[in-house]
Amino acid sequence: MTGAKIIDGKAIAASLRQRVAEAASILRDRHRITAGLAAILVGDDPASQVYVRNKARACAEVGIASFEHCLPGDCRMTEILELVARLNGDDRVDGILVQLPLPSGIDARRVMTVLDPAKDVDGFHPMNVGHLWRGEPGLVPCTPLGILLLLRSVHRNLSGAEAVVIGRSQIVGRPVAALLLAADCTVTVVHSKTGDAAAVCRRADILVAALGRPAAVTAEWIKPGATVIDVGINRAAVADRRPQLMGDVDFDAARRIAAAITPVPGGVGPMTIACLLRNTLLAACRRRGLPDPLLLEG
Ligand code: NAP
Repeated sequence: MTGAKIIDGKAIAASLRQRVAEAASILRDRHRITAGLAAILVGDDPASQVYVRNKARACAEVGIASFEHCLPGDCRMTEILELVARLNGDDRVDGILVQLPLPSGIDARRVMTVLDPAKDVDGFHPMNVGHLWRGEPGLVPCTPLGILLLLRSVHRNLSGAEAVVIGRSQIVGRPVAALLLAADCTVTVVHSKTGDAAAVCRRADILVAALGRPAAVTAEWIKPGATVIDVGINRAAVADRRPQLMGDVDFDAARRIAAAITPVPGGVGPMTIACLLRNTLLAACRRRGLPDPLLLEG
């Protein structure tokens, strides 16, 4: 048995970044517009600081301007709302991202609601969530969009496929289910209260695992020939070795059964920032009534 095809998220993300860079350059040359992304960081969480720095570097690489706004962890809600209002009105800013998690005591949902939906490049504003479920154009959350692009790299046509999504979070499970429904899959969502999750998952031609439990999806959950997308990022120790990055799927077992599978790292992870850049460019075009840049084809 040769084993599953490994879906190379790094290469697919690199190709998307390249297309974003080309489209950003066309936007500059033809329309004198430099797309811009503003990041709001509240507090001094070291992991969040690294994420924001990585996003700024990724912007620079594709020719998108980035603006970083740091607020102290004990700032008042009104300060965040005022900053968002200022960025909503700033024409240099096409995308606004609020680095999550916000410090406890700050209502993240309220912050998301005051973002201009046209600049909501994370796709969390209720208006964009509504567009997604209605199958209308809008800004789609980055990790779910990345997952769809990985699936499209192995399935040109997803229509009629039986898809099972494990997890129902607002940032991964639910939007992935909405995207798969829009792609004409028959979609089932499994969660912690599902009776026999393994039995439901064994029906899946397309299995997306986003439960946040290291290697919880074992061989018994996978239909032979399925395509498996592992969204999980967990730091876990195996036997007496040092903790390492691990997905939600038992990769070694799954690759013997599946037809295609994403690795961790190097699968979904690299797609997230690439899709954030893509969304920023898309927002820059749509806000000005320009046609969408051709970023998703080929
Ligand atoms: P989350 O908010 O914790 O949601 C986990 C979901 O899995 C919940 O809906 C939960 O059900 C369900 N679940 C938990 N245990 C289960 C079980 N044994 N069987 C079936 N369902 C179960 O997590 P998340 O934010 O969606 O993230 C999921 C994973 O993706 C994490 O490992 C996270 O680090 C990773 N992630 C990766 C990226 C990336 O860029 N690669 C981005 C975001 C997240 P209930 O709703 O019933 O509690």
